Amino acid sequence: MDNIRIAEKFNHMAKMLEFKGENQFKTRAYTNAARTIKGLDEELQVIHKEGSIEDIPGIGKILESKIVEMLETGTFEAYEKTMDEIPAGIIEIMNIPGIGPKTARLFYEKLGVQTVDELSRAAREHRIRRLPRMGEKQEEKILRSIARQKEDKNHGRHPYVLAKEIATEIVDFLDLCPDIEKVAIAGSLRRKQDTVGDIDLIAISKEPEKAISYFTGMEKVEEVLESGTAKAAIIYPGNFHVDLRIVSRDSYGSMLQHFTGSKEHNIHLRKLAISKGYSLNEYGLTDESTGNLTKFSSEEDLYENLGLEYLPPELREDRGEVEAALRGKLPQLIERKDIKGDLHVHSTWSDGANTIEEIVDAAILRGYEYIAITDHSHSTGVANGLSDKRLLEHINAIDKLNEKYDGIRILSGTECDIRADGKLDYSNNLLEQLDIVIVAVHAGLDQDRKKMTKRIVSALENEHVDILAHPTGRKFGKRPAYDVDIEKVIATAKDNDKVLEINSSPWRLDLDDINAKRAKERGVMLAINTDTHAIDHLDNIEFGINMARRAWVEPDDVLNTKDLKQLCSKLGIPK
Ligand SMILES: [Zn+2]
Ligand SMILES: [Zn+2]
Repeated sequence: MDNIRIAEKFNHMAKMLEFKGENQFKTRAYTNAARTIKGLDEELQVIHKEGSIEDIPGIGKILESKIVEMLETGTFEAYEKTMDEIPAGIIEIMNIPGIGPKTARLFYEKLGVQTVDELSRAAREHRIRRLPRMGEKQEEKILRSIARQKEDKNHGRHPYVLAKEIATEIVDFLDLCPDIEKVAIAGSLRRKQDTVGDIDLIAISKEPEKAISYFTGMEKVEEVLESGTAKAAIIYPGNFHVDLRIVSRDSYGSMLQHFTGSKEHNIHLRKLAISKGYSLNEYGLTDESTGNLTKFSSEEDLYENLGLEYLPPELREDRGEVEAALRGKLPQLIERKDIKGDLHVHSTWSDGANTIEEIVDAAILRGYEYIAITDHSHSTGVANGLSDKRLLEHINAIDKLNEKYDGIRILSGTECDIRADGKLDYSNNLLEQLDIVIVAVHAGLDQDRKKMTKRIVSALENEHVDILAHPTGRKFGKRPAYDVDIEKVIATAKDNDKVLEINSSPWRLDLDDINAKRAKERGVMLAINTDTHAIDHLDNIEFGINMARRAWVEPDDVLNTKDLKQLCSKLGIPK
């Protein structure tokens, strides 16, 4: 058991004890210990072997014995006992953002609420507003949180970037195995979905059992869930479930295709095969009349045999790609080499780590024709946002730098806050002096749908605005999207000729693939930006491109694939 999971169990224990109304010192001991454990550099497992858990500040004898119990059994007795005493639904209620143990207890004692559904009903019937410390507002907030939690499809999933890191580590390791000829990533990770559930790997081997014991014997494996003759499943640190399937070389293409998915895409392919007199499964194509099985060593051959153009994995979601491939009309998906510059970057002028010069040098290194410096506006106080006066100095500094540099154009810009009432942080007079104006919402995120939509729409109606950054505000592991009518935002962008951003930060990735595809279909131009706060982030562009490819985006749909001249004319920048 790793430190993170031990800390989580302690946090969970604290919540349950608080719900039960146990004394504060007891609950606080658990939360403090959880915090300490999360901050440790070394795994408790190792510390335990050296016999020194008790030396960790804040962890006494009692907690030490519980940690040791967890290391040995995966749980501890007091925890299991407390779990049994509290209805399962209550634990779910305490997991709703904004509802702590005390509030859950209030609902339980006063209203007899024991499940999320009962809580939702109580809110709809206005029984909550009559409770102490509650009101109409709290009631609405609870309903919104429940709805969001249900919508939150990311539950139990990992951001792409983390899954990719783990998968790469494992693949590199398996590559060293003498009994493995080739290993590949399949599943949603290969389709570059924004979040990934399990990691699926396929390997070619003539010695499946040896290959599997190599895999399950990796040092970091926490648990072996399954270890068969052709398949194994393990848990890897960070709660990653990893599946490995061993295949022979002649059916590698069929297997890779099958386990790349998606499920819907595969169903569509099976129907297509049936219409041609075949049946399709992970082993190949079977001729229904003769019973002959054709295996495929490459995916390309498989698709070709079905009469299809080769389908990039990012498109395999049954969103029209099979029909398009049949007609030979697949989109020419955008690639990294199409990107000519980055239009959303922060410097030391606000909360970035690098000077404008350092950023420009990094942009030149990446072969960019232009780079926009878009520091924060003054509402974003924590981010050292620029006052009116400093913005003018910022523009001046960029003017001067442009004289110094050849072969790259630095655009003066802002990421201007859209205030709660929809007004912008700078006057039109100031915005007019900038090359590029990005607008974004950073505070007041729990406004209701109507207010939030109106707020963003009114910003997009400003004539000086060019781009809406991170249009839904989601951050993996932190918060879901804010409540906004994205259709309305897309329509407003279309009517006002504004650009919507695909934010390449691996923790954001909004617009997501579905909304970006919608925007593209409505004829709205997109920008793929990194929102760089340190020059290494410039390479996050890869993640934004993944999202764009999943959204069928072609180079022409994207503002920052234009060359400098086209960009200037699009943004109305005088030459
Ligand atoms: Zn922002
Ligand atoms: Zn930003």
